[in-house]
Amino acid sequence: MSIALNLDHAANAAHREARGKSSLVGLSRTELAVALGATGLDAREARMRASQLWNWIYHNGITDFERMSNIGKGFRRTLADNFLLDRPEIVSEQVSTDGTRKWLFRFRDPANPNMPPVEIETVYIPEEDRGTLCISSQVGCTLTCSFCHTGTQMLVRNLSAGEILGQILMARERLGDFPGGSRPGDGGLVPAPRGSGGSEGDSRAITNVVMMGMGEPLYNYDNVKQALLIASDEAGISLSRRRITLSTSGVVPQIEPAGREIGVMLAISLHAVRDDLRDMLVPINRKWPLKELLDACRAYPGLSNARRITFEYVMLKDINDSDADARELVRLLAGIPAKINLIPFNPWPGTNYDCSSSSRIERFADIVNAAGYASPVRTPRGRDIFAACGQLKSETERLSRKDREALAG
Ligand code: SAH
Ligand code: SF4
Repeated sequence: MSIALNLDHAANAAHREARGKSSLVGLSRTELAVALGATGLDAREARMRASQLWNWIYHNGITDFERMSNIGKGFRRTLADNFLLDRPEIVSEQVSTDGTRKWLFRFRDPANPNMPPVEIETVYIPEEDRGTLCISSQVGCTLTCSFCHTGTQMLVRNLSAGEILGQILMARERLGDFPGGSRPGDGGLVPAPRGSGGSEGDSRAITNVVMMGMGEPLYNYDNVKQALLIASDEAGISLSRRRITLSTSGVVPQIEPAGREIGVMLAISLHAVRDDLRDMLVPINRKWPLKELLDACRAYPGLSNARRITFEYVMLKDINDSDADARELVRLLAGIPAKINLIPFNPWPGTNYDCSSSSRIERFADIVNAAGYASPVRTPRGRDIFAACGQLKSETERLSRKDREALAG
């Protein structure tokens, strides 16, 4: 099922009104207090108002200053005159037969109204015991992993912290995850699950966030850090750091800072156990080869048996799926508290790769399991709406070269 919403008219009107205002979404509490101070508040009141606003934005999901009942009418007007609580526009929302949802979100930059908007995809995957939101960190990707659809799209730009958080806020709204929200009715499709975790116990639809959408998060480090710190802050979106996973293709110098400063769970897109093959599949390997990558993993702050690194391994027929590969994988990871996630390759138009057969994947998993690693095979979700791993790619690519160059600055 696919619903396409054409919000262009309303969006353009809002856009005209937005000129000159800046968004408060994605600011740290300190930055928010500074922005409020600029409207004439003293430091103490600015701090107090900043806490109230955080609560309205992240806990209650309010986008209209008028609804902020503990803020006086006069200051509500000042806020509306100067600021926005930006959310992405929904260009389309698709629901897979398995309940997976994919949104195409459009972002405009209020500070640069002449810039063309950008579009990215965000995916929600409901399961029995959890609901996982897969978010993007960049529009496109500078890396060119040969099996990844996103990798065929050139980088358009980094997403800001507010845009990264905007994906979570908009998804929570659509899934009825804010206080007083109602669940979407899908005429008999799989309902949003009730998972556990988060500050509202088992009532949240989104219990986990994975940064596994478009882009390489560690190449947009500062914005990703700021967004994930707000997502995990108890006064922010209040998701436990253990329920947030950042996946990287292996930007080695940023791995230790990510653990120390953000403290979320780490996933590594490994995909090959020899440098010659990984150079081809995940070209960043030429810069930071396997040994350096695995040394950085061993040194990941907070690593323990209770906080393991997930190694993602895409199953490519006759490329990386032999018994010898499985045995080498086990040998390479020795001593690292690890989980291995085997991902059946998801095809996309124009790819030369095939997915390994299910018997090959089972045999590979058996070898890894026998060595004592949990190695769940990731069930492909949302393939019918092109929402599975590595299938995301945005329409932004259709922009003219001139527009893209303008966006890239
Ligand atoms: N850029 C980051 C995060 C996004 S990709 C990274 O590479 O880790 C999320 C995961 O999907 C990665 O492990 C990626 O290698 C994998 N992936 C990419 N294309 C895929 C495809 N066609 N089929 C299956 N998995 C894919
Ligand atoms: Fe970029 Fe990750 Fe795709 Fe590689 S797998 S091209 S790093 S999004």
